[in-house]
Amino acid sequence: MVLDLDANATYSPDDSLQKEMGESWHKLGNPSSLHRAGQRARAAIEECRELLRELVGADRGDTIVFTSGATEANAMVISSFARPNMHAVSSSIEHPCIVSPLRYAATHGVEVSFVAPTEAGQVLPDAICQNLKESTTLVSVMAANNETGVINDVATIVREVRSRAPTAVIHTDAAQVVGKLPVQFKELDVDCLTISGHKFGALTGIGALVIKQGVPISPLIRGGPQEGRLRGGTENVFGIISLGIAASAILTELSSRTHAMESVRNSFEDTLQACLQSIEVNGREVARLPNTSSVFISGVRADDLVVALDLMGMYVSAGAACSSGKPDPSHVLQAMGQDEERVRSTVRVSFRADQSVEVGAMAARKMAAVITRIRASERL
Ligand code: PLP
Repeated sequence: MVLDLDANATYSPDDSLQKEMGESWHKLGNPSSLHRAGQRARAAIEECRELLRELVGADRGDTIVFTSGATEANAMVISSFARPNMHAVSSSIEHPCIVSPLRYAATHGVEVSFVAPTEAGQVLPDAICQNLKESTTLVSVMAANNETGVINDVATIVREVRSRAPTAVIHTDAAQVVGKLPVQFKELDVDCLTISGHKFGALTGIGALVIKQGVPISPLIRGGPQEGRLRGGTENVFGIISLGIAASAILTELSSRTHAMESVRNSFEDTLQACLQSIEVNGREVARLPNTSSVFISGVRADDLVVALDLMGMYVSAGAACSSGKPDPSHVLQAMGQDEERVRSTVRVSFRADQSVEVGAMAARKMAAVITRIRASERL
């Protein structure tokens, strides 16, 4: 049996999704069509929008635009508010889909400040505020990091930024938080918030941007009248339906899911520590996502460990993005000031809510055995 310990990469849908989606399979047309099949699709989309609104605590006047995922939602924010001759503030531990378009913007006349996190991986409100300028039009800070799971205090960041730069648009990429912890758009008081469906049990290729009433967002994809003219193109009806189904499950089960994730993650970390001692968990001293464990294992290259575990049917992740078959060194760990050995020898293990504490402990024991074997072979 395969053990998927890579939920932050994608939280693959439960079997129930297939069954629930099957019910709509033959019934839906193009949501822009006037006939009944089209109108059924339109109604399904609007129902899912309302479920998502409820899930993230957005008001009726706020806009929810369905996108192809978090990458597109983030790109929409950056292209709207990171403008030439203006200034954008973000952090150096953002997902590449924020870092890369901001770097590109910086080559096209936008001034960009990337704020470094603490050693534990948190982006502090003060550090953001110190970088604000009169020309700051955008502040974008992720709600929790995908590699370390470390949570940022977005509500405080927003409060402090608003008092110093009242006209700046504030955005948070909450792709890793929705489905794991409560997210309240209104309470966070951000202007825009990014959601990724496949991080909490929907299909891949669907996400959304939540936009506060009155925030002047522009479309990234211009075309037909879909999504209130904010995103042209026929809607991804089945993706949206999967998002609605996943949102509805989270709405009824969030606290038990959070607790289940935390239990399996803690059981994994405690067992691994008991087996090996010589491991260190990044960000353990600060608030983290309930399901994420970023573990430094000295003397073992993360990519070797990922491959060895894969051969045993266990999926974990090393580094960040994977290009040409080799993971790039993590820009997140580098920004946290970690040395080359730590960056090279850190793996991310991320759990699902339907995994038990026994699974966490078993995964740790198997991983410890593989680590001991790799270390022994390197000593030969
Ligand atoms: N933002 C964060 C924090 C992520 O973890 C990811 C995916 O790993 C993304 C954005 C990109 O999400 P998507 O695959 O929906 O484009």
